[in-house]
Amino acid sequence: MNPMQMLKEAILSKGKAINQDVLLVDSFLNHQVDVSLMKAVGDAFAAHFSGQSIDRVVTIESSGIAPASFTALAMGLPLVIMKKQTSKILKGDLLQTTVRSFTKGTEYELTAKREFLPAGEKLLLIDDFLASGEAAFGVLNLAQQAGCEVTGVGIVIEKAFQPGHDRLVRAGLDVCSLARVKSMSEKGIEFVD
Ligand code: 5GP
Repeated sequence: MNPMQMLKEAILSKGKAINQDVLLVDSFLNHQVDVSLMKAVGDAFAAHFSGQSIDRVVTIESSGIAPASFTALAMGLPLVIMKKQTSKILKGDLLQTTVRSFTKGTEYELTAKREFLPAGEKLLLIDDFLASGEAAFGVLNLAQQAGCEVTGVGIVIEKAFQPGHDRLVRAGLDVCSLARVKSMSEKGIEFVD
């Protein structure tokens, strides 16, 4: 079975729409992780982006880490995890921007050390979900501060009825979403063809 079909089947059999806007996939992506599926996801992103000149994979903690790790492994590239919180041990020349969390409704300081984003590099962002695009635009902002460029975005589950995809495409990015949800409710989940 191809990775996109495996992912769609996991969403249909294990995903739960909490309401029309939020999908719970904590049994294979956000809490318990199906590593075989994540390996297939990483291989699919590598197949899509490998012809492009990319220097580094970036993601946001914590749910982007599994798919981004397998993508970086498949592409033979370094991986940088952007932090949602600072801590006493996160020191040095830090890049920061404020991002509004879609699921929590609160704001956080997206943070990365400048030394892990060398100027001039091309970055591939991998994340678990795409909703409004706020998280992705936060990463674009940090990349710009570092003198890097995000050229591609790989998303495991895109909610196509929310504005993130169009915003990123309008910004000139190559967006590869493996599963595109058209609508969801208690009755079921539908995908864009
Ligand atoms: P955005 O910034 O595009 O609005 O939202 C993307 C981020 O919010 C993702 O990194 C993900 O962590 C979280 N998110 C957005 N929508 C959902 C959802 O339906 N389910 C889950 N589990 N997380 C979501």
